Amino acid sequence: MPPYLSFFRSAALALIAGTVGFAAPSSKVMLLTGQSSKYHDWTKSAPLVKTYLEQTGLFTVDVVTTPAQGQDMSGFTPKFSGYAAVVMVYEGAEWPAATKAAFVDYMKNGGGLVSVHDTDNAFPFWKEWNEMIGVGGWGFKPDGNIGARNESWGPKIRWRDGKMVLDAETPGNATHPARHDFPVVTRTPDHPIMKGLPATWLHASDEIYSQLRGPAKNVTVLATALPDKAKFPTATGENEPMLMAISYGKGRVFHTTLGHVNSKETPPYPSLACAGFIVTLQRGTEWAATGKVTQRVPADFPTAEKTSIRQR
Ligand SMILES: [Zn+2]
Repeated sequence: MPPYLSFFRSAALALIAGTVGFAAPSSKVMLLTGQSSKYHDWTKSAPLVKTYLEQTGLFTVDVVTTPAQGQDMSGFTPKFSGYAAVVMVYEGAEWPAATKAAFVDYMKNGGGLVSVHDTDNAFPFWKEWNEMIGVGGWGFKPDGNIGARNESWGPKIRWRDGKMVLDAETPGNATHPARHDFPVVTRTPDHPIMKGLPATWLHASDEIYSQLRGPAKNVTVLATALPDKAKFPTATGENEPMLMAISYGKGRVFHTTLGHVNSKETPPYPSLACAGFIVTLQRGTEWAATGKVTQRVPADFPTAEKTSIRQR
């Protein structure tokens, strides 16, 4: 429709929404998905992410699905400009060089990116991507074996003695203990994404991504979790970053390592149904899109003692 009609439509929608007490959707968000490794299943996670974003009333969500694994990617050229944020549930094949360049340009000029769980496994050899996500894990080598990201990718991020520390010394690459409920600890309570959230909350049945590596530049650690050596002998025993905010050029990145689901799982997918996952995703996306967070913390947010699984 012509721009002036679009304006009147938006204004009319805002008026209607105003009468029932909700803000009209203001931010256009792209949900980019379509491939996972054998360890994950985007067909389960991406529809939930779309629902969660729409539930805020703040976003209109366009789903952009890549060609399937193994298919020709050369025609994959989504238009990033015009979107307040690109939310990615994507652990898949490399994009064409022109698409990568367009995404870098979009981000450097003030775009927003949200990286969900295994999305930080993607693109191990894309330098700018590694800068955007701060740190990442695993990733496939050219020979098809997993474990591309190693010590030459950069340091690990740790939280020691009340502050973020970059550890380039100790060996070890990406790993995680078996899924379990674990406490997530807020480390930057004044950040817009974290304001009003509990100091500690119990997240349901997820993987504590550990020993992620990368350039780790311009990263704010929002929350950490501790893989407990007493329960998991091979765990790191270090506070691992779970939620991060990264600045990239004029762009903003919200990186959540939470949200595991695999192809064998049946609902309710507790890690994705956890109100803590949902709310931090919603707040993180608003921040990536606008630099602010206007959402209230809901009453069902998990506490330090109790997980909170939303039923659908
Ligand atoms: Zn996983």
